Amino acid sequence: MSMAGNEEQGDSRRVVPERIGVAGIWCRNGQVLLTRRAAGISYANLWCFPGGGIDPGEDEERALLREWREEIGTSVRILRKIGSSDVSNGRFLLHWYLVQGQDEPLRPNPAEVAEVRWVDVAALGKWPDLLASNRQLIESLGPEGLTGPWHALPHVTIPCDAPAGSSNPSTPHAVWQDLQEQMENLRRDGMYRILRTAASPAGRTFHLDDGRHAINFASNDYLALASDARIGAAVCAAVQRWGWGSGGSQLICGRTSAHADLEKFIVRFKNVQAAIALPTGYMANLAAIRTLAASDDVILLDKLNHASIIDGASSCGAHMRVFPHRNYTKLESLLQRYASARRRVIVTDTLFSMDGDVADLPELVRLKQRYNAMLIIDEAHATGMLGPRGRGLAELQGVEEDIDVTVGTLSKALGGMGGFICGSRLLIEAVVNLARPFIFTTSMPAASCAAALAALNIVENEPQRREQALMLARYLRERLTDAGWNCGQSVTQIVPVMIGAADKAVAMSSRLLAQGYFVPAIRPPAVPSDGARLRISITAGHAREDIDGLLTAMGPRDRVD
Ligand code: PMP
Repeated sequence: MSMAGNEEQGDSRRVVPERIGVAGIWCRNGQVLLTRRAAGISYANLWCFPGGGIDPGEDEERALLREWREEIGTSVRILRKIGSSDVSNGRFLLHWYLVQGQDEPLRPNPAEVAEVRWVDVAALGKWPDLLASNRQLIESLGPEGLTGPWHALPHVTIPCDAPAGSSNPSTPHAVWQDLQEQMENLRRDGMYRILRTAASPAGRTFHLDDGRHAINFASNDYLALASDARIGAAVCAAVQRWGWGSGGSQLICGRTSAHADLEKFIVRFKNVQAAIALPTGYMANLAAIRTLAASDDVILLDKLNHASIIDGASSCGAHMRVFPHRNYTKLESLLQRYASARRRVIVTDTLFSMDGDVADLPELVRLKQRYNAMLIIDEAHATGMLGPRGRGLAELQGVEEDIDVTVGTLSKALGGMGGFICGSRLLIEAVVNLARPFIFTTSMPAASCAAALAALNIVENEPQRREQALMLARYLRERLTDAGWNCGQSVTQIVPVMIGAADKAVAMSSRLLAQGYFVPAIRPPAVPSDGARLRISITAGHAREDIDGLLTAMGPRDRVD
């Protein structure tokens, strides 16, 4: 069956590469191995090879073999390059290979690969949602699968996912059908997301619009400032003075003295030369990364970094390399391997939002100095919370002066909206002149700047807020651990309770809600597939009774198991 054959039968309309995501094919005794990418994971590359991974001067095939040996501990023989495809909306190129090896290749990272199975070549034709490109490849193998020397095989050029604007555009109807199927699959896999509408301001309790209410353990409003009356007053005064909307980007007409005042405060607060405000923390990450890295560079990412970091890295054209969470030995070997790249840029969250653990910044500083790399840190969850003055993890760990770029958000402990980048004067000059996520967007309203300024004043003057939240979190962790629960490596206001299976975590979250405690279940793909958990977030608005009530509702672990 050819691609044209598929089209005639209408099959091509079902091909949704992002959803099906066959990531590679292995052959063995008339069977082939298919792997599916986990839903929503944009950079699964276990069995395919990111085009960016070739060291300058290195042959592509050798690079692939090295990569696989290092990353999945198996040796393979490349039989044929199948094709190349743009996954993740064109963000990065994958080369697909047909490979063969004696080792059992089944050691995928469950966070990245949702399904792995061997399928008889003969039965494959009936596999309903196989990519057309794979179908063509399988047919080229013949009914017995791969036999004979690989070079004797006819070379097939497999057109991978049809690029946007190709001669085979989907009809609008097919698009809706594909989306419908994607939604159905998400529902089937327990991954479907629903919007919850609050009927109360951010605070200690969460009122749902169906009348239920619960103590809120889901919020990032760690210092309980989102509904603080002083900040509300600052916002009202700023709206009186400036109106609401800013009317343009910072570079055109959207910059007021409120923006300048906020940035001046951040400069003093963070003890840096310069700062710039952006409309969200997400955009701040995009802007920072895109300023420092481009196509000849390598970006080194902690596996658990926030999606905005991954999106920033994958949108700037640099080669991306991911090291296991807080595994700085692996990071060091990557720094050595990419010694000849134009720039090496390490990016890490400082306080990891789903685990509540923290990076080892002194070690990262040592590595960046030793290997002449840049270090970007995202202090989103640490700003206002960690360090003697609430400046973040870099302050707590005593390395502020050694950080090249700090990204932060005004939307978590500061209770508002917006993000910032700070560091050297030249860095900020470059962001303003080069970073598209800064240049091409409307600036945040002056009132948001006034809110953040008021919040930063509170952070400076009321350290008891962060002390209270961290103290309650420590208390909760100790009691949960005594009761047999696993809180991972948390040392901060974010306390995960590891459950494992997604359905169990969801059931537990529902049970707690019925008892008056709102604790969200975090499921894949936000966490690894066997890593579903409850994420308890403690704020300065909680009282000791709230924690005790939650502990009673959870009970000892063995009662639940
Ligand atoms: N970085 C991290 C680590 C985050 O957790 C988030 C938000 N969840 C962001 C950046 C983005 O910040 P914002 O919500 O202000 O866009």
